[in-house]
Parts: sequence; C-alpha cells; structure tokens
Amino acid sequence: MTYFTGYRCSNCGAEYSPEDLIYLCPVCARDYKAGMPLPGILECVYDYEGIARAWAEFNIAFPDAHEAKRMEELCEIFCPVDKEYFPNLPVGKTPLVCSQSLAGETLHLKFDGLNPSGSLKDRASQLVVAEAKRLGMREIVAASTGNAASSLAAICAAAGLKAVIFAPAAAPEAKLVQIKVHGAKLNLVDGSYDDAFAAALNYGKDHDCLNRNTAYHPFTIEGKKTAGLELFVQMESVPDYIFIPTGDGVILCGMAKAFSDLQKTGLIDKVPVLVAAQAESSDAITSYWESGVYGDANQTRTIADSICVKTPSAAHLALRVLQDSEGFGIRLTDEEILSAQKMLAERSGLFCEPSSAATLAAYFNCREQGKIKDKASVVLMLTGHGLKDVQAVKFAD
Ligand SMILES: [Zn+2]
Repeated sequence: MTYFTGYRCSNCGAEYSPEDLIYLCPVCARDYKAGMPLPGILECVYDYEGIARAWAEFNIAFPDAHEAKRMEELCEIFCPVDKEYFPNLPVGKTPLVCSQSLAGETLHLKFDGLNPSGSLKDRASQLVVAEAKRLGMREIVAASTGNAASSLAAICAAAGLKAVIFAPAAAPEAKLVQIKVHGAKLNLVDGSYDDAFAAALNYGKDHDCLNRNTAYHPFTIEGKKTAGLELFVQMESVPDYIFIPTGDGVILCGMAKAFSDLQKTGLIDKVPVLVAAQAESSDAITSYWESGVYGDANQTRTIADSICVKTPSAAHLALRVLQDSEGFGIRLTDEEILSAQKMLAERSGLFCEPSSAATLAAYFNCREQGKIKDKASVVLMLTGHGLKDVQAVKFAD
C-alpha cells in the first residue's frame, strides 16, 4: 500500500502520473543541456490525509513501539514504492548520537556512515533500485563522486541488478574498490563529477536502463528524505537547525522534503533552519543564495571530495529550500574541515569523511558569527564513513 499520488514539477507546478517514467518536467527541461543545473526537478506528492490517518492508527495500535519500529513505519508510509520491491539489505535506522564534548553544549550527530555501503546515499539507491524492480528493469546507471556509485553497486548486488557507474578517475580509492568489489561496471571519467554526470546521461539515452543521477531521478531526493523522517522520530520534535554537507544540493533538498511532508501531514507546525555546509572552492549554492544569480563554482578542488561540485544539479531547488527554511550557506576551508574531522574522531568516537565534518566546521563558524540562537537544538548530518577516504587524513597532524 502506498500513499504516493504523483509528481509535481518544483518549477512550474505541472503534475504527472506516478506510472509515467519521467526524470525531469518535460516542459521545463525542454532546453536542458548537460552542464547546467537541472531545470524542473520533480517532487513526489502524497495523499497527506491518508498518511496522517495511517500514522495515527499505528500509534494507537502500537503505543509502546520502540524507536526503530516507529522510524521504519513512518518511512514506509511516506514511501513512493511498495516495500515488496525493496532489496534484501537493511538501509537507514542509523543512530543519533548526543555529544556534549564537541562544543560545550549538546550536538546531535546523525551518523549515516553506518549504512551498508557507508553513506547516506544508500537511502536513495534503495528507492531507485526498488523502482527499477517495479518497472522490470535490469540495469541502472549513475554518475557519482564515489559514494552514490559505491552505494548503487552494493544495493544492485543485493537485488541482482547490473550497475553501470561513471566516476571521476580521481575519486578516493576505497570508493572505487567498493564499486568493483560489488561487481558494478566502472567507467572512469578523465574529468570532474560534472563530466561523469553528462556521460551517465548520454549512456542512459542509448541503453534500456534506469538513471540514478542525483536529483535527475526524483526518488534520489525522496530516498534521502528518510534521514529527516528518522530525525523527527528520534528527537520527538523538530530540531532548530540542521547542518548538511552540500555539494550538488540533493541531501539538502531531501532533508527539506522530509519536514515539508511532515508539515503537510499536520504532524509538525514549523520546519528547521537548514544550513548548507560547503567547501569554499565548491560554493555555487552559497553564492546563489547570497546573490540570487546562478553561476558555476569558480574552481573545484577540496579535500572533501563528496561535496566537490562545479555545477550543482539541484541548485535551483536548493536555493528555494534554503529560502523557505530561512537557512543559509557557509563556506569552509579544507583546514577547517580537517580540524573538525579530527575533533569529531577524538571527542565523539565517530570517524566521518571530510565532507561530513564540514557540518561541525560550519557550526563553529555560525556560532562565532552569532548566527545560532541560544539553547537551540542542533543536528549535524554526518553522511559518510571516514574509512572511505583515509588518504584525506593519513598525513594530517
Ligand atoms: Zn515544469
């Protein structure tokens, strides 16, 4: 049973049937060419009254349900694909760690490095793989800086599907090893993530496969949404601020979608302030938020490879969700990111990859600038495991 009713274009508002295989709004994307932020990203729409009823009935039937069961149920009723298509590999239900040793006050750390392939991307891969199974498709293609690809490779392996990956040749070795060990076909692109994105789009045109390019398939945002739904259950409230590692903007959009859906369902009456933590060399979304005018990032070279993006695929939607949540973007240097990564490892026991540590660096930055209200509840999204990129810290002091 699913409460999914269709897609709505985030740009023009046109609606489409869930039975159509559509990546972008065909009207808004008429003139789209690879190398631009995606126009007309589709958002999933639900029967929100039906969801509110289902959640109320669950709470009456299981008043003492433990946290894991509550998270599973909420994610299931907010899911666009029936669970029967899900691969047999548990994703999500990651811990929320309360740490008092990082900042002298409580910080909530959502550690998604504990997903099967070591990153939050498993949430999106799970949903796209389930959709491929529903449609009877046997092959999925994706571009990635590394995490989405290693995730898709793992989840396709569990589902018995073929994964075809386009990744920059400079991606961290551990992520490339993951892609290979799970049996995916790896095409190394002599260029950036943006070049890999274009190559995967081209491949999809000539092959009978589903495309998992992030934001291009609407289920990538929808899958990442589950991290926000879990936070709502784990905190039993809406946090004041959520800091999110931001490259192409899709995790940011997914977190925003979680709280927007919860609000539409009547379960919450406010949404958190979302903060986009960006590397200073991959700051296109922050610049867009500041100026209101889109431009590619000037250069893309950062230790935080997962947020190293010149042309964020979800730039337009990311700007809207930042504005809607009264959020903002923050630029971090590689030194700030590495220092935050070390502090997290030493004081919280969590080893996350550099892009995840950008959230702690952004928190310190905001606190110094007086951007965080007193006694606010703060969540840092730690989206990937540190073992995915040991080179980044191998020789750091
Ligand atoms: Zn449209």
